[in-house]
Amino acid sequence: MKQVYFITGTDTGVGKTVLTCLFLKGLRARGVNAVALKPICSGGRGDARTIFSAINGALALDEINPWYFRAPLAPLLAAREENRKIELAQVVARIRAMRKRFDLLIVEGAGGLLSPLGGNAAEFNSRDLISALRAKPVVVAPNRLGVVNHVLLTLDALPKNLRSRAKVVLMAARKPDSSAATNGKLLAEFFPLERIILLPRLKLTRTFQFPGMTRSIGALLSE
Ligand SMILES: [Mg+2]
Repeated sequence: MKQVYFITGTDTGVGKTVLTCLFLKGLRARGVNAVALKPICSGGRGDARTIFSAINGALALDEINPWYFRAPLAPLLAAREENRKIELAQVVARIRAMRKRFDLLIVEGAGGLLSPLGGNAAEFNSRDLISALRAKPVVVAPNRLGVVNHVLLTLDALPKNLRSRAKVVLMAARKPDSSAATNGKLLAEFFPLERIILLPRLKLTRTFQFPGMTRSIGALLSE
């Protein structure tokens, strides 16, 4: 079955889009027919536009991001403000249709794992999407003091079968604090070291290349 990687995070604004674009660029450079989606955006479509520019026209903006809402709130609330709603089945159907067209799909969630995305009677979040798609979860987190707690909470919220396939990506801060050098090692006492990827500080405006990029992409792809 074709792989779907689902990029989630311990919080909003932790680097999901950067990681999504980086992973995508790395895969496409390897000749993998991969695309990335940001199915749901709230507070503008900035992330979807960033992905759009990273994939060189392989998809239209509306294919990358079918649902978007103006208010910078959790998508469930942002949609309510516009008297709209999204259902889990619709989102899953869109992603599955896209999966047929490409070898590998990267899906960026909105907010963190349990951020309310949509629904009416049955509300749903990124965890429900990951489960429905049987996707590989990638948990992005800022490498700063407190991150071990946030990562473990997020991993704990995943069903066991999905947790065992998860990867954790620690993103370097602009100004690393004194915990940055040891967070990865501490986390490895609770989660397999080979599933933890540490990335340097990255900027989307520059090239996506960085030292160790090939190794990082390989670590994301490995079973
Ligand atoms: Mg983002």
